Amino acid sequence: MAEYLIKNGFVFDPVLGIKGDVADIAIKDGKIVETDAVKNPKIIDAGGKTVMAGGVDIHAHVAGPKVNIGRNFRPEDKIFNYKPGRGIERMQGGFSVPTTIRTGYNYARMGYTTVMEAAMPPLYARHTHEEMRDTPILDQGAYPVFGNNWFVLEYLKNNEVENAAAYIAWLLRATKGYAVKVVNPGGTEAWAWGLNCENIHDPVPYFDITPAQIIKGLIEANEYLGLPHSMHMHANNLGNPGNYTTTLDSFKLSEGIKPNSKFGRDQVMHHTHVQFHSYGGDSWANVESKADKIMDYVNSHDNITIDMGQVTLDETTTMTADGPFEHHLTALNHLKWANSDVELETGSGVVPYIYSPNIKVCAIQWCIGLELALLAKDPMRVFMTTDHPNAGPFIRYPRIMKWLMSEEARQQQIDAFKHKDKVVDATFIAGIDRELDLYEIAQMTRAGPAKALGLSHMYGGLAPGLEADVAVFDFNPNEPYAPDDIEKAFSNARHLFKTGVQIINDHEIVSNGNKRTLWVNAKVNENPQVMRDVKEKFLRYYTVTLNNYEVAGHYLPNPYVIEVDATQ
Ligand SMILES: [Zn+2]
Repeated sequence: MAEYLIKNGFVFDPVLGIKGDVADIAIKDGKIVETDAVKNPKIIDAGGKTVMAGGVDIHAHVAGPKVNIGRNFRPEDKIFNYKPGRGIERMQGGFSVPTTIRTGYNYARMGYTTVMEAAMPPLYARHTHEEMRDTPILDQGAYPVFGNNWFVLEYLKNNEVENAAAYIAWLLRATKGYAVKVVNPGGTEAWAWGLNCENIHDPVPYFDITPAQIIKGLIEANEYLGLPHSMHMHANNLGNPGNYTTTLDSFKLSEGIKPNSKFGRDQVMHHTHVQFHSYGGDSWANVESKADKIMDYVNSHDNITIDMGQVTLDETTTMTADGPFEHHLTALNHLKWANSDVELETGSGVVPYIYSPNIKVCAIQWCIGLELALLAKDPMRVFMTTDHPNAGPFIRYPRIMKWLMSEEARQQQIDAFKHKDKVVDATFIAGIDRELDLYEIAQMTRAGPAKALGLSHMYGGLAPGLEADVAVFDFNPNEPYAPDDIEKAFSNARHLFKTGVQIINDHEIVSNGNKRTLWVNAKVNENPQVMRDVKEKFLRYYTVTLNNYEVAGHYLPNPYVIEVDATQ
């Protein structure tokens, strides 16, 4: 394997604590090494450029059945943007729901090398893995959804945390999943009966359990197993005016719980796309930002991490396992919609959406996402996402960097809002003059998410021993720049390395890499009751047999297994 020496770049690395100093980064055998460990390296001249570790996306929807529904029912998302294969690059297309191929290439162009698929219906895990297998370059893992799963609801109703943990371990193995995802706990199951759970004490029909019990029980089961990532949460009441109280109530369920994990994370709950969960007011007429209340809580509780769910003011395709929310959304915008129930496990919906700067609510949503990041005291616990494609396509990350790093860029956007005065009245953004620097950006896009995923031994930094995922951008932080220069430079990496393989050379994609699929194999004591329950439910209620359920090895040609032992 070729050795490389990336010389004289401005390095931003929270793991080594380097804040833009000029340094050399050496690569050997797929890892970062000390610079004197390489003997005859290829030299990459990074003089006057920014060097960072590969980006890590903790939450995006890039593979699996709902993503594919989005692709199929939105031909307009692909019109005029197909690009035939050329050189090493394969045929690619799509904007808000790009093909798997374009997903890999576009993340790579932004310097990202690891992306987690944030909601995998267990029954469709094989499809999800097929799409991940097809996505070039990126290391990926997928989070199976647990918050509306019949087994989980029954175990937790009876306070059987150990059984819930044994079931989680079995399902992670069967689906080759990475973490415990929760979407509108209880609410998606209730939706199968035309109902919802709008707060954490709203009972789930038939199961006689509340979202609060589900959330708390899943955090406990997650820590019982000692999984690398924490419970990954999308709370009830997403997208409704006044929902910030539900969010705070959900946060509070983690109080007093300490992480039990050998993987170096500090949190027991990651709450995703918090922008959608930070609304005050009681109607769309008086909706307002409560980002201050949310961030007061997050800033003072270090066992929580969050990501933004930043609205990018694009036309996009929303998709979520929050079935009742998507029904609510199609009633608002009258566009086409798809909705689906996944047997005993979950459901989902898909609705196109236009975040117009001329609509007051969309502009307020834009402000709230940025406020969450700008009010963060610890950028290692607040991560950049768009909940792709829900609040906007992931290709806008460099534009979000521009907004976070430049008050001038924010002001330009605020001035362009049709209802500027009302938007400013309902938010805090106009009073925030903070401008994040590249070190803080590296915390929010690399070191922080890697740590929260329990993957800081592999990703997120440039310390010797870590994977050689390195991006070089045409950006000189010491010279004057216009806000748009940030977006331009970070949209189009000059060089990118993934586990030591050069993927991009002088802005050209030169390799499809050797992508891996990460999954967690949690060992637990034998649990005859759970295995009996699984067999019985499959016989009685599932339309597939148990033998056809498990994701076989050939779905993951290049697996990376993280072993966890919870037998003690
Ligand atoms: Zn999501």
